[in-house]
Amino acid sequence: MALTQHWINGAETSGQGGRLSDITNPATGRITGQVTLGSRELVDQAVANSYEAWKSWGSISLAKRATVMFRFRELLNERKPELAAIITEQHGKVLDDALGEISRGQEVVEFACGAPHLLKGGFSENASTNVDVHSKRQSLGPVAIISPFNFPAMVPMWFFPVAIASGNTVILKPSEKDPAAANWMAQLWKEAGLPDGVFNVVHGDKEAVDALLDHPDVKAVSFVGSTPIAQYVYERGTANGKRVQALGGAKNHMLVLPDADLDLAADSAINAGFGAAGERCMAISALVAVGEIGDALVAKIAERARTLRTGDGTRGCDMGPLVTSQHRDKVAGYIEAGISAGATLVVDGRPGQSADQFDSDGEGFFVGPTLFDHVGEDMSIYQDEIFGPVLSVVRVDSYDEGLALINRNPYGNGTAIFTNDGGAARRFENEVTVGMIGINVPIPVPMAYFSFGGWKASLFGDSHAHGTEGFHFFTRGKVVTSRWLDPSHGGINLGFPQND
Ligand code: NAD
Repeated sequence: MALTQHWINGAETSGQGGRLSDITNPATGRITGQVTLGSRELVDQAVANSYEAWKSWGSISLAKRATVMFRFRELLNERKPELAAIITEQHGKVLDDALGEISRGQEVVEFACGAPHLLKGGFSENASTNVDVHSKRQSLGPVAIISPFNFPAMVPMWFFPVAIASGNTVILKPSEKDPAAANWMAQLWKEAGLPDGVFNVVHGDKEAVDALLDHPDVKAVSFVGSTPIAQYVYERGTANGKRVQALGGAKNHMLVLPDADLDLAADSAINAGFGAAGERCMAISALVAVGEIGDALVAKIAERARTLRTGDGTRGCDMGPLVTSQHRDKVAGYIEAGISAGATLVVDGRPGQSADQFDSDGEGFFVGPTLFDHVGEDMSIYQDEIFGPVLSVVRVDSYDEGLALINRNPYGNGTAIFTNDGGAARRFENEVTVGMIGINVPIPVPMAYFSFGGWKASLFGDSHAHGTEGFHFFTRGKVVTSRWLDPSHGGINLGFPQND
């Protein structure tokens, strides 16, 4: 069985006396390896190494940083099938989807290759007589990235290319459920020529996270995960004086107006509801059907859902398993709760529906696509983030009713409107209290040069990931006002500095 260890100073290390956690292939239910869980002492060691590395990386030339970034991009592009295979084995998502997540992460690497341009400051000559002013942005030091299980490559890549290109050193604490992708990326950095210690990986759970949040030399924390943990990380990190961006959970709505193309809407609901078995923070889990279209739309979605093949992600299925048996049982529990609450179960994906329901060897953690209609706002299947392949259709009578429902929801990560009415779409993008909006696009994940992040309970902090916000998050601004001596200098003046 493979043992995944920490990666510190350019090499794997076991750490002293660490606990171990099993790694399972969710498509077969078999334990395939173990991961070492870091202690507070291990985190101290990683941060100390990271701090030492920052002393030189923080002042290395922009040209050298960009060169390493370009090399990392080339290697990643050449070798991404290796990484995709690791993701599919530990997370369960189908191979194409794993490749897709790597490509979206690679976009951030490509964006960060432009760091020399993005880190440029401003300059004003003669802001006051013979006085020039310029601004600059400087790195912070060691920064921590704490990531969730559902995108073991892409989510860390939302942050580390920008952090490293900005001159920081990174300590990545990936999810303990699928930790191997982090070590693969660490090895790739080494091959790309990144100095040892600039990218460290600490594996672990709450103990390692708390140690990172408390360590005075960790200057910033980028967290992605569930809302309760995001809030906890934000509060503990900021109480310790760090800047923190903590991206949380989601309940993403798709509003379908009566004039929408129903085939496009049905295809989109399937793709966004069941892709990655619903284990995406931008998955659509609530479809809000406006007016008379409800029956026709539900029929189209049901017809498509029944054609999806669920199984081992290496076998060309549409959907893989859920990440753990506990999560599979939790999702199945929500389906039971939806039935008990009186929602109409249109497509039932619970295990045990038929002998050959799922294409896999062994006992994978599968739930098939599940569709509920006539879901009420008070039902747990509507209120909670299920994070599984369960799509709830809520019927409303008007655009205003649908908008109010979405805006009442505590989450605000992503949303989409399906319509052919430009005026309605424009109103929606202005009125909806959500961070990322799709217009006839179900999963509106922004390009790397824009910033990713939600509103309300989907984000704690005020800074989104990548784009210019990413560069701002990972740097501190300075403004320098300078005057070089000339014959007119001098003279005492105790008044507030004024420009002339
Ligand atoms: P999680 O909150 O359980 O774990 C996230 C990270 O926090 C992991 O590294 C984990 O080890 C650590 N952690 C877990 N419990 C902790 C605790 N008590 N104290 C300190 N650290 C702890 O999330 P998950 O199940 O890995 O991921 C799924 C969640 O992530 C979903 O809610 C999903 O919506 C969210 N997510 C959000 C986004 C976004 O952009 N907003 C993106 C991806 C995933």
